[in-house]
Amino acid sequence: MSIQRFMLAEDSSYATPYYVVKGKKSGPNMMIVAGIHGDELGSILAAQKLVHSFQAKQMHIHKGTLIIVPIVNKRAYLKRKRGDSVDLNRTFPQTSAQSAKHPLSSALFQLAKRYKPTWYLDLHEANGLSQKNPKRLGQTLITNPGNRCVPKLRYIINRMNSSIENRSHHFNLRLREKKGSSRTAVARILKAQAVTVETCWSLNRTLRVNYQYEIITRFLTKSGLL
Ligand SMILES: [Zn+2]
Repeated sequence: MSIQRFMLAEDSSYATPYYVVKGKKSGPNMMIVAGIHGDELGSILAAQKLVHSFQAKQMHIHKGTLIIVPIVNKRAYLKRKRGDSVDLNRTFPQTSAQSAKHPLSSALFQLAKRYKPTWYLDLHEANGLSQKNPKRLGQTLITNPGNRCVPKLRYIINRMNSSIENRSHHFNLRLREKKGSSRTAVARILKAQAVTVETCWSLNRTLRVNYQYEIITRFLTKSGLL
């Protein structure tokens, strides 16, 4: 297994590191990104923890390639803000003929295009608990209607929920077509199994990081990379 560090949007004020972890055998590509929204700390910390696990050799990729971008919008993250003037997650291309409307979403989409991931996980945090209020997105896995990953998401949600004693923290599946989001771009244009992971940002931080991390490991296992 090897892990290499590169820079996304290099030579710009948006420059941010990303990591490529390669297994010895060939296999599927998975891409995991966090920090498209700079203030969703639970997801950013989980992505960083994942990088550290590989660097410390506590976790190993057996086959395939994993690309991790722990803090997409570093400028927003440093200010603990969702974004600067625009919501970055509305600036991704909506068709293959379109280009992204922001230098950072453009760089991230180019990276996805280069690796053509089978799986794409976009880590976020949201308000509320979906289990208590179906309109809330906290504790959900979201994909686009018709995405072929739906049965696998149901499986992962069931496994997650059976390990969570507090029922109000249970995860739910949501199907949404969010135009201009990275998930929709990667699902529609690159035909990836694309998922947004949302933990509830009002829960204890350690708990949120643990939920995110556990979900990531379940995806890595399910896709055969771990
Ligand atoms: Zn978000």
